[in-house]
Formats: sequence, structure tokens, C-alpha cells
Amino acid sequence: MKLALISDIHGNLTALEAVMKSIQTEGVDQIVCLGDIVGYGPKPNECVELIQHHMIPTVLGNHDEASIGEGDISNFNHWATLAIHWVSSILSKNSVDFIKSLQFTYEFEDHFLTHASPDKPHTWRYLTSSSDVQDSFAAFRQKICFVGHTHIPCRKNERNGGRSIINVGSVGQPRDRNPKACWGLYVSEEERFEWLRVEYDISETAYQIRDAGLPVFLADRLAQGR
Ligand code: ZN
Repeated sequence: MKLALISDIHGNLTALEAVMKSIQTEGVDQIVCLGDIVGYGPKPNECVELIQHHMIPTVLGNHDEASIGEGDISNFNHWATLAIHWVSSILSKNSVDFIKSLQFTYEFEDHFLTHASPDKPHTWRYLTSSSDVQDSFAAFRQKICFVGHTHIPCRKNERNGGRSIINVGSVGQPRDRNPKACWGLYVSEEERFEWLRVEYDISETAYQIRDAGLPVFLADRLAQGR
């Protein structure tokens, strides 16, 4: 089975459309989304609709949660806070209902999926230090856990075992100094995972961000991949 993993779309419809084309080219059997469809970017409702149209199983992200007035945004930075207030103000009833229906985790085949960390997923813990990561393996039984949240593609292996936690990177706001949209491809027969990078029209999304009255910083960072 060929599985496509997408995460952290953040209202960047232009990037999402480019990634969907790339996924179609690879001919995958299933697409799953690791959350943060909205937040930062200019087309939150359109991104939700595209996810719904393709019936993509999705877990809840911290920006999704905040956009419907739930969760704690005290740890959001200035730009994220400004953007989430804007998103909340334009979110359609359809988007709100869809986000309300999302769960923190999803188990699919031999995979565990969650936005931030398999260990206490509702706390939106960042898996950065190696002790954080090693502690998290106890929280799931499957061979692979796929996550998003940091926007930085990476793979961490279990110290004494053959399991992995894989961060699939970000569709709509990559932060690894590579501005190309990122998605993950997993081929189960070969137990092979790879990140694919997709060029998209960054200037179009940047224009939409400015046009929406969102902070210009959110437009500028896209071209820098940070
Ligand atoms: Zn995110």
C-alpha cells in the first residue's frame, strides 16, 4: 500500500493543490492528514473543503483547535495569535463543524497518527529533545507513528527497538529553510518512507496573505522556508 501523509497546511491552498497533484502523480492508495489545516494562511475554508472533498482522514491540530475557540493559545506567538483571530472571524459553519469532529489520534493499518506527540497529544508537546522522543514510544504500539507540528521533516528511531516516529513536514509553511511544500510517501511493502518536495506559486499565497490583511511577515517567511 502507498500512503500519502500531509500535515500543517495552514490555509495555504496553492501549496495544498500542488501537493495533491504530486500525490496523484505517485498514484497513492490512501491520503491522511496530520492536522493544522488552518492558521496563518489565507484560505482556511477552501483547504477544509478540499480535505472534505477527497474524504481524507484527519487528526486535530493545535491551530485547528484554537480556530474554533477551544484550547489554550497563551503559548502562541504574536503572529500566530493575530492570524488565529482572523481565521476564527472568517471560518464557515461547515469548517467549524468539520474541525469539531476531529480527534487527537487516528490508528490506521500499523500506524499511529497524531499532530504533535503520541504522549499526551492534547498538550501539543513538541518532540525536540531525544529524551522527549524516547519517552513517546511507550505511548503507542504500532511500528510507526507519524506526526507534524514542528514543520521540520525528520525521523527518530527507537533506541532499543525497530520503531520510528516520523515528522512528515509541512505543506503550507515549511520551516527547514526549504520553501517547497513537503509531503510524506510511505510504501508499506518496502517499509520505505520518503519526503517529497513540491514547488508551488509562493508569490500567489503571499499576495493572498497581504490581500487578507494578515501580517506581512507571514507572507515573507514562505519564500524563506522558516
Ligand atoms: Zn502547524
